[in-house]
Amino acid sequence: MRMANIGGRLVLRRPDGFLDVAEASGGRFGPDPQQAFDGWDAFARWARGYVDGGGGGADGRPAPALRPAPGTGAPWGPPVPRPAQVFAVGLNYRDHVAESGLTVPDEPAVFTKFPTSLTGHEHRVALPEGLVDWEVELVVVIGRHCHRATRAEAWSRVAGVTVGQDLSERRLQLTGPAPQFSLGKSYPGFGPTGPELVTVDELPDPDDLEIGCALEGGEVLQKSRTSGMVFDVPELIVRLSAVCPLLPGDMIFTGTPAGVGGARTPQKFLAPDDVLVSWIEGVGRLRNPMGSV
Ligand code: ZN
Repeated sequence: MRMANIGGRLVLRRPDGFLDVAEASGGRFGPDPQQAFDGWDAFARWARGYVDGGGGGADGRPAPALRPAPGTGAPWGPPVPRPAQVFAVGLNYRDHVAESGLTVPDEPAVFTKFPTSLTGHEHRVALPEGLVDWEVELVVVIGRHCHRATRAEAWSRVAGVTVGQDLSERRLQLTGPAPQFSLGKSYPGFGPTGPELVTVDELPDPDDLEIGCALEGGEVLQKSRTSGMVFDVPELIVRLSAVCPLLPGDMIFTGTPAGVGGARTPQKFLAPDDVLVSWIEGVGRLRNPMGSV
């Protein structure tokens, strides 16, 4: 099942277009994408049945109209617009640890992206002053409350995954007596996610997906596989939930593979008019033009 936030409304993906959830469910589920996570199991069961059943008409109501996908510059919102908690993990791919000249960590390096940094597909990111770098990431969204989860149950706590960018202003991130990861990665627009949230059953192997990003019409910047994580998704859920209860709708940015601009010689950063395209196999392709403040 694939869902999205278009114009602030929760929609379900079908091969031929999108269905408005509030309309299709006759109001059983509201239009707010965040609310889908409050009762995730019931919503996912209904949505899967609705889409698999061809959509509409089964309970006597007429099938709602399908909407085409919006085009460039359209109002895609983040699939999870108001998470209670956003976890992010640094140095979580072996190839990225190596390019950073560091050693593989014994514990995940955890920080947050403040939720005001979240935005959606096709949204323009206003680049602040400084050195703004790309970091394509698999973003995991929690579907069921979990505290002290075991490895075996970890994936069952996940609602789905989406494509994300952990955009990072490197000067603020790395300057000062202690690094400012959370702040340097939380300018408005620094957390693009989407276009869709995809349930794990749609993926052939959720622990081994191609992941990458490129400048549109130009260079491939990152290309790797999620199997290169130091702490894989179940291990991150175990370690995070050992401390913090994970709540439905929480997000985990699971780290970026090799190819970031700050680790290059010479270094390379995003510039106004660049268009950053990020993809994960089977999950989606997220496009964000860059602009100036
Ligand atoms: Zn990151």
